[in-house]
Amino acid sequence: MWGSNRWARNAQTTIPCKHCGHPITVVRSCQHVYMQCEQCKKQGDLNEYIPLMDDVLEEFMEGVFCDRV
Ligand SMILES: [Zn+2]
Repeated sequence: MWGSNRWARNAQTTIPCKHCGHPITVVRSCQHVYMQCEQCKKQGDLNEYIPLMDDVLEEFMEGVFCDRV
């Protein structure tokens, strides 16, 4: 939409969902960031997946925190 993934509201990571193993999506809405599985539709707390962080999630988080002034 904006021609850049950096400010996207969600990003597909390579981190497997804890419930079904499907690669999970990281989503942000306003100040809140959470994980959403497109396969089983379960949501997870970001903190649960931080230890599994991949490059996609890391880059996404940089964009999130750059929003703070
Ligand atoms: Zn799942």
